[in-house]
Amino acid sequence: MTPAAPTAAIRQLAFLARHGDLSAYAHQIQRLGGCERPIRMEGHRLDVHAATGEIVREITDRDLPAGQLLIRCNNRRATRCASCAEVYRKDTFHLVTAGLSGGKGIGPAVAQHPRVFATFTAPSFGPVHNRPGGRCRCGRLHPDDDPALGTPLDPDRYDYRAAVLWNAHAGKLWGRFTTYLRQHLASRAGLSRSALRHCLKVSYAKVAEYQRRGAVHFHAVIRLDGPDGAEDAPPAWATTELLTDAIRWAAREAEAPGPVLDSRAYTFRFGDQFDIRPIRSADFAGRSELSSRAVAAYIAKYATKGAETAGTLDCPIRNPITDLIGSDVTDHARRLILTCWRLGALPELEDLRLRKWAHMLGFRGHFSTKSRAYSVTLGALRQERADHNEALARERATKASYPLPDPDTVLVLSHWRFAGTGLTDAEAVLASSHSASHNAEGEPDRAR
Ligand SMILES: [Zn+2]
Ligand SMILES: [Zn+2]
Repeated sequence: MTPAAPTAAIRQLAFLARHGDLSAYAHQIQRLGGCERPIRMEGHRLDVHAATGEIVREITDRDLPAGQLLIRCNNRRATRCASCAEVYRKDTFHLVTAGLSGGKGIGPAVAQHPRVFATFTAPSFGPVHNRPGGRCRCGRLHPDDDPALGTPLDPDRYDYRAAVLWNAHAGKLWGRFTTYLRQHLASRAGLSRSALRHCLKVSYAKVAEYQRRGAVHFHAVIRLDGPDGAEDAPPAWATTELLTDAIRWAAREAEAPGPVLDSRAYTFRFGDQFDIRPIRSADFAGRSELSSRAVAAYIAKYATKGAETAGTLDCPIRNPITDLIGSDVTDHARRLILTCWRLGALPELEDLRLRKWAHMLGFRGHFSTKSRAYSVTLGALRQERADHNEALARERATKASYPLPDPDTVLVLSHWRFAGTGLTDAEAVLASSHSASHNAEGEPDRAR
């Protein structure tokens, strides 16, 4: 992105260069690793030697080149911060891969467990422009990038209420599905559900994707393990075929009750189209089979997207009239948002918090979730990175012969308060000159 006032920014940087502060400033910005909307903090930090009370390090906002402490925003959405979303995408990729092929502390035997990649669709809320076999019902041939694709043929007859209520209940329906899945596996094995828990565990990692019509879909890796999870082999009767059957049955039967509005009782079920495919090992080169790498790349890609792929906004709406004026929101998304807004005023729907989640078209769940036993957590991956950076910093400090104090003997007293977000124009120039050289290195995991 080009900063708004490059000449003023560059003049400011030139001034800093003349007065000797530029390289420290550039270093502080470059440590953000390309984050476009860092969080700005004011305050101070004191590192005190616990035994002697000696101050070993002092950091105050005034002494920092930017006058504030800057922290990466860690936003998962690519539309908000490309750099942080990229970190999130890679972490998700590694998390999903570890659960399919091992790694990050999980043994390679997990690759032998039955697992499938399944897609759960939303039901129909009215006919939309699409291309089942070429020509659309409207009689036209829509090109790939036609914004009309996925939008209703007749917006006045499209069931907007059911569409946003579906999004609002999709997470609950997923919960029902997992219960039914365990139930069906138990009955197929001739076991009670509590007995099943002693010989089988169902693990999953899933991601939500918005279709063009603004309805949430789920894509999930579902795996069978022994009772102790990823490191434990499932019983021999737990096959990929059994898993596939059980998923199909549970997805058809699962139902989430919804509200009663104007004497219509809503219940939510998945659409008729299920896609369930076995996942082969990473090096499998078959034609129609999915490799674990392709599945992990797919889930990771969707983990950094939000409802903006359905033509809506990527941040909460405070006033639907003013927030939607002049925005790029499509007519279809606008109707979905306004439906959320209207339903959000009903006291009986208070729990759904439809106004807060109107920009998400009613969906308030997490974009990517996993069951506890699936693999490592994103938190563990972040901690691993933090420990690695800390170790590098210690190594550098030791080489430069000013070793950092042992963390066990140092008491950290810090107080920081939020002071805003984003970069100044001058900082954006420093950041973009950094990211230009950084991106040139090439990134092998990138999947588009
Ligand atoms: Zn960021
Ligand atoms: Zn059409």
